[in-house]
Amino acid sequence: EPVALTDPHLAGDAELAFEGALRPKNLGEFVGQAKVRGQLQLLLRAAELQQRSPDHILLAGPPGLGKTTLAMIVAHEGGRPLRMSSGPAIQHAGDLAAILSSLVPGEVLFIDEIHRMARSAEEMLYLAMEDFRIDIMVGKGAGATSVPLDLAPFTLVGATTRSGLLPNPLRDRFGFTAHLEFYDESELREVLARAARMLGLDIDAEAIAEIAGRCRGTPRIANRLLRRVRDYALVEAADGGSGRPDVGAVRAALELYDVDALGLDRLDRAVMETILTRFGGGPVGLSTLAVSVGEEAETIEAVVEPFLVRIGLITRTPRGRVATPAAWRHFGLDDANTTAG
Ligand code: ATP
Repeated sequence: EPVALTDPHLAGDAELAFEGALRPKNLGEFVGQAKVRGQLQLLLRAAELQQRSPDHILLAGPPGLGKTTLAMIVAHEGGRPLRMSSGPAIQHAGDLAAILSSLVPGEVLFIDEIHRMARSAEEMLYLAMEDFRIDIMVGKGAGATSVPLDLAPFTLVGATTRSGLLPNPLRDRFGFTAHLEFYDESELREVLARAARMLGLDIDAEAIAEIAGRCRGTPRIANRLLRRVRDYALVEAADGGSGRPDVGAVRAALELYDVDALGLDRLDRAVMETILTRFGGGPVGLSTLAVSVGEEAETIEAVVEPFLVRIGLITRTPRGRVATPAAWRHFGLDDANTTAG
């Protein structure tokens, strides 16, 4: 299925196991994001020198850029246990109370998609982050009383596709917010070379560069594409081929899976085609766009748009999203605005 290739939410178990195996275990193995790495290094080292839990950390950025990986690294570097949860799993304050009250001293609590946590849990988290304390309500109605409960000191690592989606009081309680950026091609080549080494895959530099240019600036996608290329080479070898994927094999494999020269995925293409063909190149408002492609506005804004802007296919204007001349060219269409007159 071409969709599962680039859509992080549709990955199967095998893909997830593969991803886990390639995850960098410490900051030294983590490729790219030099700024964030430096910031985290300082934060972790300072905590270590003072023998306390590191400050709470918010990781913001599109999916697949390494937020979960960094949370694991924060725990691993300090030799701390890690508890993983996610916003959608915390639908009541009680869900969060259960997690917080069972943390051991120094534990790292990772909450993925933290902007999707229940509001009541959010409020409980304020006090927990600030004072390592929560108030638990006992009883019901007029007789209800709140009982304070002390927590073990912990480090919260929150991940979100957009920090702007978090209420200010929550955002303000993080000691540090890391904004993860899309990776450039040289960084992606490094991610791919490392993964190929770990997979024992003999692949040349030109083939690696071809994948790096088509993985949407995202290590997760880079690793997935590499896996498809490996499959392709395996099958070729079984049929008498070399088993070493060259640039031709990469192009053939990626074409088979519908990955175009820019690495756009299904949703990217749906958004671009909507702007180009249904709205004559724009401007199109965010909510109109979301309805047209059948996605949440939040996803379009946090996941799709940043990449399309980064590679210069759309610009954001006060009146909406507008396709650039490069977008018309990439989709092999005539610019409605220049051909109309
Ligand atoms: P999501 O928010 O969708 O869970 P994420 O940002 O948490 O995404 P990760 O799960 O951390 O992304 O990363 C996806 C995969 O990409 C990892 O398994 C890892 O193999 C690879 N990866 C991510 N960042 C890096 C990196 N800096 N260097 C090498 N590999 C990386």
